[in-house]
Amino acid sequence: MHYFGYKKGVLHCENVSIIDIVKEVGTPVYIYSSKTIKRHYKVFSDSFKEVPVIICYSVKANSNIAILALLKSLGAGADVVSGGELKRALRAGISPQKIVFSGVGKTEEEIEMGLKAEILMFNVESLEELQVLGEIAKKLKKVASFALRVNPNVDSKTHPYIATGLSQSKFGIPEDLIIEAYKISFQNPYLKGIGLDVHIGSQLTSVEPFIEAIKRLKKLWKELVNLGFELKYLDIGGGLGIVYGSEEPPLPQEYAEAIIKEIKDLGAILILEPGRVIVGNAGILVTKVLYTKTNWGRNFVIVDAGMNDLIRPALYQAYHKIVPVEEKLDQEEIVDVVGPVCESGDFFARERKIPSLRRGDLIAIMSAGAYSFVMSSNYNSRPRPAEVLVEGEDFYLIRRRETIEDLLALESIPHGWNSSGI
Ligand SMILES: *Cc1c(COP(=O)(O)O)cnc(C)c1O
Repeated sequence: MHYFGYKKGVLHCENVSIIDIVKEVGTPVYIYSSKTIKRHYKVFSDSFKEVPVIICYSVKANSNIAILALLKSLGAGADVVSGGELKRALRAGISPQKIVFSGVGKTEEEIEMGLKAEILMFNVESLEELQVLGEIAKKLKKVASFALRVNPNVDSKTHPYIATGLSQSKFGIPEDLIIEAYKISFQNPYLKGIGLDVHIGSQLTSVEPFIEAIKRLKKLWKELVNLGFELKYLDIGGGLGIVYGSEEPPLPQEYAEAIIKEIKDLGAILILEPGRVIVGNAGILVTKVLYTKTNWGRNFVIVDAGMNDLIRPALYQAYHKIVPVEEKLDQEEIVDVVGPVCESGDFFARERKIPSLRRGDLIAIMSAGAYSFVMSSNYNSRPRPAEVLVEGEDFYLIRRRETIEDLLALESIPHGWNSSGI
């Protein structure tokens, strides 16, 4: 459920007309609905009411600090995967004791940041990382709480680029090394193992792979407890899928029910790291039709957003629903919706039947709240779009549009080169 819909033939986000936002902010623009985020967060967290739980929103899905502040106000913690994301979460006011730090390649600087901020725990992804974490903790005289991320070799049946629980993927530590790693950590008083962690992938549309992974974790958990380790947190990651087109993911309640049944007897505090399911359907990308043309019988609609603004179709062959901002009841056409970037992968839809569009029309690319703006780039020297957050009757610019000057500001021509060349 989301709060985008037509009122008197014009697409609205909550009670704000998309046309009014575009008049003020221009295109392309990301527009998010705070009501939708709140609703998704509440449905998700309510589903887990009966067990002790910390919901650590996966910052990488959408890391705008206004979105983080909104989620913080709802009680969310954060799952971060870089020093930058940690800083964002702290800036948004999220309690460090609700922050977990994941990722296979944490730098020493990032580990220091996490230790100094006194985050809840590091999700450690290799034996070397555990060693380094221990050394830095000792140097700073700060105890590093950690969970080991298990690679359970479970097939999450999602797109290969977002499957993270298979034996051939770079993530986590194989099951048979976990016990050993825990034992090693015992030698360093600055390392405190407090949990187990898993994250098997994103956009999962069934509960079975989650349950399979949890079963593996439970086995390890019991072994570790028997060895005398005091485990507290069972972090089962994120990954619940959403509806972009015809997917049928489990409802949060169904997902929760299956998980709770599986973990109830462990006495663990559950940590969840949802990203997409909270924000995915809470955002759209609004773009303007620049040109239409027919090449060798194929119809193209060329818009002012490109793959640099939203790369999911190019990267994952992802489907995004596309609708006109002004409802059109006339004929439909089969078109390719493409951007201005000089790549054939720069498309939002191929051979898609949508209402006929003309130069100047606005369209909305739906379900663009997760892994969308955060993956944008400046390819083709294109400034990143603005981001707007709607709340009821009001809308707020939460990231101004970049300017070309912004892009040039970080670059310099070596000293002594004159303007006529080298
Ligand atoms: C990306 C990621 C998530 C969030 O995944 P979603 O599919 O957006 O829920 C959670 N945990 C980790 C470790 C991740 O890398």
